[in-house]
Amino acid sequence: MTKVLDGKQLSSLMKEKIKEQLSELKKKGEVPGLAVVIAGNDQASRVYVNMKKKSCEELGINSFEYAFDEKVTEEELLDLMHKLNNDEKVNGILIQSPLPSHIDEEKIILAVNPIKDVDGASPINIGRLIAGHALYVSCTPAGCMELIKHSGVEIAGKECVVIGRSNVVGKPMAMLLMAEDGTVTIAHSKTPNLKEVTKRADILVVSVGRANMITGDMIKPGAVVIDVGINRTEEGKLVGDVEYSSAYDVSGHITPVPGGVGPMTIAVLMKNTVDGFLNQRGLNK
Ligand code: NAP
Repeated sequence: MTKVLDGKQLSSLMKEKIKEQLSELKKKGEVPGLAVVIAGNDQASRVYVNMKKKSCEELGINSFEYAFDEKVTEEELLDLMHKLNNDEKVNGILIQSPLPSHIDEEKIILAVNPIKDVDGASPINIGRLIAGHALYVSCTPAGCMELIKHSGVEIAGKECVVIGRSNVVGKPMAMLLMAEDGTVTIAHSKTPNLKEVTKRADILVVSVGRANMITGDMIKPGAVVIDVGINRTEEGKLVGDVEYSSAYDVSGHITPVPGGVGPMTIAVLMKNTVDGFLNQRGLNK
């Protein structure tokens, strides 16, 4: 097992399996579809949406983009959700965060039929995950779990530390690790002595959004380090929340940025969209 957990490579393997599923469906004339909703001028969001569309094209999933400007109203977005919920060609709905600040994002997510909520963002799907029978797991934490499993390190009984408590990454991540019998600590901006907490981690997942905040001296030797953060430096370079150069030496396994969690997130979104199709046709076990 190599030390670097290569998300590009692992996501390609996942996509190969998804392609096989899709070609079986295609023989029956069926093509799953994903609707992606984006509003405003956030440049990073535009990049992510383009990557998701490209991945759909590559695999043969229909993608439908709904782009709005900064002035979009809640009514317009709620109307769209109603339309997409009732559109048979749409099996998954992804709302690219962030929406413009005057929009109540939770209200829009609540309007998505949970059976089409392929990002696992709705309260129903978060609740199902906590209860242990998730319909769709949020794409990023699900991708992180694939990377951790790929390391070959057993999760059961291990000290797991998740930094960040967002609904889309930190909280579901902690639930997934607990479901695999890890002993989980969630740290956040009010956690004192972060280094004492991170130093305990056999498995460390960082989802904060602060460039290079976790340095090698904060990591337990041999730990599995999963870096969710995507930050652009002043020089225009993409870096994670973990300082890769110092963390590489001390960790047992580590994800790079870019090329770690990002490609896995997209691969899981594709998988969840196919699952969405199967769920809506009553074909999933
Ligand atoms: P978020 O909603 O902004 O949450 C950030 C979390 O970090 C919060 O829980 C916050 O604590 C915590 N935090 C902030 N400063 C901290 C500090 N000094 N020490 C400890 N914790 C601190 O973030 P998110 O949506 O999880 O995203 C985080 C990062 O991951 C961003 O860079 C984002 O771009 C990236 N991301 C990447 C992917 C991917 O596919 N690779 C997917 C999603 C997100 P409080 O709760 O106390 O405020």
